[in-house]
Amino acid sequence: MESKRLKTIPEKVVIPLKQHNGVACKPLVKKGDQVLIGQKIGESVSYYSSDVHSSVCGEVTGIEEAPNPNGNKVLSVVIKTTESEETVAFVPKKHPSQKELITIMQDAGIVEHYGAPTHTVLKPEGKKIDLVLINATASEWIGGKYATPKEYASQMMDALKLLMKASGAVKGAIIVRKDDEDSIEAFEGVKVDGKALRVAPLLGTRRLGHYFKDQGSNVVVASQERVLGRNILNFFTYNVTGRKVALGCNPTDVGVAVCGVKSAKALYDAVHEGKPYYETVISMEGAVNCPELMLVRIGTPFKDIVRECTFNGEIGKIIANGVITGIAQYTDEVPVTKGTTRITLLTKEQVLRDESLDCTHCARCVDACPVSLLPTRLHVLAEQGRFDECRKMHIQFCIECGRCSFACPSKIHILQLIRYAKNAIEQAYEDDTPKESPNLKLGCCGGE
Ligand code: SF4
Ligand code: SF4
Repeated sequence: MESKRLKTIPEKVVIPLKQHNGVACKPLVKKGDQVLIGQKIGESVSYYSSDVHSSVCGEVTGIEEAPNPNGNKVLSVVIKTTESEETVAFVPKKHPSQKELITIMQDAGIVEHYGAPTHTVLKPEGKKIDLVLINATASEWIGGKYATPKEYASQMMDALKLLMKASGAVKGAIIVRKDDEDSIEAFEGVKVDGKALRVAPLLGTRRLGHYFKDQGSNVVVASQERVLGRNILNFFTYNVTGRKVALGCNPTDVGVAVCGVKSAKALYDAVHEGKPYYETVISMEGAVNCPELMLVRIGTPFKDIVRECTFNGEIGKIIANGVITGIAQYTDEVPVTKGTTRITLLTKEQVLRDESLDCTHCARCVDACPVSLLPTRLHVLAEQGRFDECRKMHIQFCIECGRCSFACPSKIHILQLIRYAKNAIEQAYEDDTPKESPNLKLGCCGGE
């Protein structure tokens, strides 16, 4: 399955000046300016920021607050496009130093899909990274722009080495999904420092440390189950490395930088081609008949992508970033950003079928929870505003994977209620110090 480009260039693109956590970029263009593909249109004003580039040729028609898939309005550069595909001159960087790599990432606008500018993950202020992970469990080999799985494997290996160099880490690993046979086959036997790689399944309590020793290498590829979730990073880090990340901390606090396939590919392109991050691959899901993977320009309104799909019936809902953990959109004018991974279209009938019924106490949500919380109780407490009780039941450790909502036969919006309670708790306890979880599955206390 190959990713397909949109057949038509959108009439306009809306490029947010903030597509990451941290500080928004300062606009470098004004109304009436002509821009080329790859031209920098927003500049970082802080280390916790990442540049923004035009994905089209055209004329800037405004810099304005525009709807964003995160549900807010964000200051954005609106560009009326032309048919031209002219780019600025891309200059590859041969053999960049560690410092140059960090600058390249910020200049090329590379950010993780979960929001962090990639250079801040690799070089967090005041922390030392000794292990880099590329989490490829949510991306099949074609999740980027590769001709074959072998090309994917070799580019990912190269990208991993660049990420390791940028961070100063001595060890690195790529984690693929257990059932992603193409990726496993592609990585199997790849030569690293003269040794052939073996893709190791993470079994039982065996974590990466075991495989670094077993394979006598500082670079390994391992496979594990796919785990989805907005706040998955700490859970993923523990699962893979055995390092415990306390609540309120992130993997960089335990020396681990977690990057995604898209940012790894963007770094590869920035170094080898000098190309900034202005297009991305998203997957299309739901009641649509269109390519499953689409290569789109950042800033493309959702409506232009939906137009290229054949849709059965009337659209009932558009969801960004997955049915289970994503956000329903109130307008199809929202643009694809660096944080967009998928677009789901639901019919009106599918939306109506989602009406909630009463809880039957079947406990399927409890069985489904990967971190052993009690969603059946949490959703009731959240709905009743009993946030202190939610806190006592460790709601903050929810990784927002949505498995509970998915498993619930009564279609109760458990995840939304949990998020609501978590937000209320976060606001009320802003000064909470990092703490460990009593829950062994979260890896924040107890043994490895
Ligand atoms: S409570 Fe629900 S969303 Fe949270 S971790 Fe458990 S299953 Fe996932
Ligand atoms: S799965 Fe749904 S119906 Fe069953 S206990 Fe959980 S919330 Fe209640």
